[in-house]
Amino acid sequence: MRIIKIEAIPIELKLKEPFSISNETIEVADNIIIRLETDEELVGWGCAAPDIVTSETKKTVLTNFNMAKKTLIGADPTRINLLNSIMEENLKGNPSLKAGINIALYDILGKKSNMPLFRLLGGYREKILTSVTIGLNPTELMVEKAKKIESEGFKSIKIKCGFNINQDIINITSIHEAIGKKVRIRLDANEGYSVEDALKLVKTLEKEDITIEIFEQPTKANYLYSLKDVTNQCSVPIMADETALTLRDNIKLVRLEIADMINIKLMKIGGISNAIKANIITEIAQVPIMVGCMNESMAAMSAGVHFACGFKNVQYADLDSVLDFDNDVAKGGPRYEEGYIIPSEKPGLGVEVQI
Ligand SMILES: [Mg+2]
Repeated sequence: MRIIKIEAIPIELKLKEPFSISNETIEVADNIIIRLETDEELVGWGCAAPDIVTSETKKTVLTNFNMAKKTLIGADPTRINLLNSIMEENLKGNPSLKAGINIALYDILGKKSNMPLFRLLGGYREKILTSVTIGLNPTELMVEKAKKIESEGFKSIKIKCGFNINQDIINITSIHEAIGKKVRIRLDANEGYSVEDALKLVKTLEKEDITIEIFEQPTKANYLYSLKDVTNQCSVPIMADETALTLRDNIKLVRLEIADMINIKLMKIGGISNAIKANIITEIAQVPIMVGCMNESMAAMSAGVHFACGFKNVQYADLDSVLDFDNDVAKGGPRYEEGYIIPSEKPGLGVEVQI
């Protein structure tokens, strides 16, 4: 089998409501759909979701796609490890572009094998509990959103914080008061706190008897020892996200025992091939991982679901981006049920892209 055509198609995903975290607000997400066509009439779909965290934009993805294209035309799409290593050698950075291409190759592999991807990857589990994120907003709106999420059957919410500690405490305690007995609460500060603030937040919530399941990236990405200080002094499990971009970052994090857990996103690590390596690094170090997502289409997020279900050490999922869009071009794929996300049993990713 050979790849005969490869396209990168930019799309704009409109968010139902603006999404704010400690350092940015977005209303539209730029995604780039990747379409691979083979001489056996199999089509593979993938998607790149460039983000400030990966230092990519729509423009960098489209420009560097032309370089990647030369490697792929005429190649056998099932030789994913070979193509991944050529891509890693010839194209520095660009993890979401690499992820988009790598996901499309895995989609073809699944379709060629007539198996859903999570089974092909080893199929550790058939579904995984996911959190749904509540962005920064006035407290009443955040509480309302939390109630809505809980009423839809979700069992875990992730509250954004890191903007203003006193306001954050009010937001978190108000949400806990409304639905805290029914759902697990995770926090994500997106690098917004000092070590002192992070510890103060945890202590205050402890006094209020509020259990936090995971506290994500309290401090700045580049200050490894600040994150380690929080991890060492804190009763709540601390998860690295912005600090964990590359495979090398993952090795550093586990070797220096910087965090209790790591958030692996396919867009940060460069696709499923690299996520498998990150899973091996972390599993050996006994550091559980969560699979998260960017503001990404189902053509990308479905790959995260398959990866999450493939492996034992992926103990947590935060796969909710598709709930925010009205105009996604990728249909089908995984479904939500009673707080879980369940991958499609169709071959490959199991998504149909209408474009
Ligand atoms: Mg995060």
